[in-house]
Amino acid sequence: MSQKRPIKIGIMGGTFDPIHNGHLVTAEEALIQFDLDKVIFVPAGYPPHKEERKSLDPVERYLMTVIATASNSDFEVSRIEVDRKGPSYTIDTISEFREMYGGGTEIFFITGADAILEIITWRDADKLAGMCKFIAATRPGYCLKKLKELHVLPYENKEPEQGKPKIYIMEIPALAISSTDIRERVKEGLPIRYLVSEGVANYVLKCGFYR
Ligand code: ATP
Ligand code: MG
Repeated sequence: MSQKRPIKIGIMGGTFDPIHNGHLVTAEEALIQFDLDKVIFVPAGYPPHKEERKSLDPVERYLMTVIATASNSDFEVSRIEVDRKGPSYTIDTISEFREMYGGGTEIFFITGADAILEIITWRDADKLAGMCKFIAATRPGYCLKKLKELHVLPYENKEPEQGKPKIYIMEIPALAISSTDIRERVKEGLPIRYLVSEGVANYVLKCGFYR
């Protein structure tokens, strides 16, 4: 009889304004490299860290995330943050998934090298440490050396110090794509095809987003 291993889920949070191929490659790599059962994309509702620029309506960002992930049976999209009133904090989202899946499920929060540094300095980092593990994907333009300064040890190294979150560093094929660049390209009338999925490119065009 085959041994039952705990369920492993990845949670990929983001503004996804819009979702692009960098996000999709990151999620797919995490799925394979960490043998996850699925990756759940969680588009942010009202992002607390992006007040300086008004992002697209959460429901539109949610819809684009659904369009981009529709063909992958290992990808899901959650409305958890989109439906939440007020700002969304990672800790609330992880807590909800913890409750939903129970203690037997391993939760991996997937981020890029830039975003992990924001999360680690948040006031709830120590609490997060007890709830999930983190996967920090390499991202062009962001140096992971800072993680070492924070005494966060890479994958297959020693366990982190007491109360510090476990972070696995994940090497992925570098894709120098960002939502900011996509928005700028649309504004300048440049193509975004092959940077985002075809459905997303069409939807952005159809709705006249970012112009
Ligand atoms: P923006 O330019 O608006 O900040 P973004 O491209 O950084 O958009 P986010 O929605 O902010 O996208 O990112 C969601 C998550 O995906 C973050 O953890 C981020 O680090 C990660 N990520 C985004 N783009 C890449 C990429 N090209 N390679 C690896 N990780 C990425
Ligand atoms: Mg970003």
